[in-house]
Amino acid sequence: MSAKSASPTFEANLARLAPLLATLESEGIGHVIDGQRVDGQRRFETHSPADRSLIARVAEGTAEDIDRAADAAKRAFKPWSKWSPDKRRAVLHKIADGIEANAEDIAVLESHDTGQAYRFMSKAAVRAAENFRFFADRVLEARDGRSMPTAEHWNISNRVPIGPVGIITPWNTPFMLSTWKIAPALAAGCTVVHKPAEWSPVTANILARICREAGLPDGVLNTVHGFGEEAGKALTEHPDIKAIGFVGESATGSAIMRQGSATLKRVHFELGGKNPVIVFDDADLDRALDAVVFMIYSLNGERCTSSSRLLVQAGIAETFAARVAERVGKLTVGHPLDPKTEIGPLIHERHFSKVCSYFDIAKQDGARIAAGGTPFGGPGGGHYVAPTLFTSADMSMRIAQEEIFGPVLTVIPFADEADAIEKANSVRYGLTGYVWTNDMGRALRVADELEAGMIWLNSENVRHLPTPFGGVKDSGIGRDGGDYSFDFYMETRNICLAKGTHAIPKLGT
Ligand code: NAD
Repeated sequence: MSAKSASPTFEANLARLAPLLATLESEGIGHVIDGQRVDGQRRFETHSPADRSLIARVAEGTAEDIDRAADAAKRAFKPWSKWSPDKRRAVLHKIADGIEANAEDIAVLESHDTGQAYRFMSKAAVRAAENFRFFADRVLEARDGRSMPTAEHWNISNRVPIGPVGIITPWNTPFMLSTWKIAPALAAGCTVVHKPAEWSPVTANILARICREAGLPDGVLNTVHGFGEEAGKALTEHPDIKAIGFVGESATGSAIMRQGSATLKRVHFELGGKNPVIVFDDADLDRALDAVVFMIYSLNGERCTSSSRLLVQAGIAETFAARVAERVGKLTVGHPLDPKTEIGPLIHERHFSKVCSYFDIAKQDGARIAAGGTPFGGPGGGHYVAPTLFTSADMSMRIAQEEIFGPVLTVIPFADEADAIEKANSVRYGLTGYVWTNDMGRALRVADELEAGMIWLNSENVRHLPTPFGGVKDSGIGRDGGDYSFDFYMETRNICLAKGTHAIPKLGT
């Protein structure tokens, strides 16, 4: 079924998944290095969050595997970087075609591997193709620079690809997020070693296969599975890897910065968030309600841009929170492959325990649980939690400060504009902010003051690919999107031409 047809049924999704699982069970998952499958000595297992069943045994990458992959990426770099922009553009479009053709397989596998609801994963697979198409069309301008003439010289800048790069990705929307990094790297002319997250390894090799079938030369994209502490660390320390594009936790970002320091690695970090949505009493409260609920309870709340703090003006706080609680009570928690499901099981037992630990923390800190606050007995007995709403909270509480990364929202009242800004900014993160008000002057004033890399006024997160994506404070370093991505994957050089008229200082005359 194509991604554009009507949504398939739960049974159709299960039927699509069955043969894919049979193949994974019998063949396991290896690394893809220089176009070849490599299995290595050790394996780890990946399980479904819905019923804890084994999905596959996966090659566990070592420093040696990373070394082989980096070597392949290094050898492939020169020829790939010399491909004409037209040829490179064409192959990236073919990859996008391949992703579209495989979008339904990717969606069901990713739902099964991560617990994310199919309704969101089907869109994520399509967005992955869009990422490739977007950067394919920008290949032609990737090298462009500026002309900066002076009276006697002409300065011309241009950009060249930085070399082989490492891409390290998390588990929350693994396929889509990996394309967000890999597509611009390839468009820039870099070669890639990708280390997917160990909790969601299943779809990464599909991308490698699609790339190969589209005509991407061997060694241009290499995939090494395994754990962050071993394979990930080795990648960040490898001398032939010139830059690391990383998406994950802030603490891991710090570790990568340390690990990469000896080889002066260029880093790009997209990290955690504790994003505020600020609702003023003059806002369109119906639209605000839809956005508030969507931005924390979609994708299981396992979403870096989720608005996990609802800052609501005191006069409407109680009634607005009651409306949110009513909606939360009606959310459909269920099997991730059921198209009706809005919230699936959390990725892993460890993450489930972390999210559940905040139910006690909230009570101990004096907050009220207005909805949820317990595990949920979902189909298959996996890592389900009830969507949760905390009220009577203040900024001193851990539920107001820490990234929970689950379907859990903390409501905090504010008095006025200044108080809203103060509360929004008093966390260590700064990824996104959302503001709801019909006073445009106020919207712009608040946007100016918010410490966040991305701000939406009267909107949920709607991504436009040319715009800069990234965070401030502990939420990241650098920007993705449009030309911003090329600044990371490329070196800007300046070439200075003399007109032959300037006086050259004469020594020894
Ligand atoms: P994580 O940091 O635990 O893991 C991410 C990746 O880093 C994995 O592939 C892991 O194996 C690897 N890794 C772990 N330790 C490493 C090390 N020492 N050296 C090299 N690599 C290492 O993050 P996660 O739990 O997979 O993902 C959830 C986090 O990702 C959340 O904090 C979320 O906010 C963040 N995230 C941010 C964005 C964004 O755009 N800002 C997007 C998605 C997710």
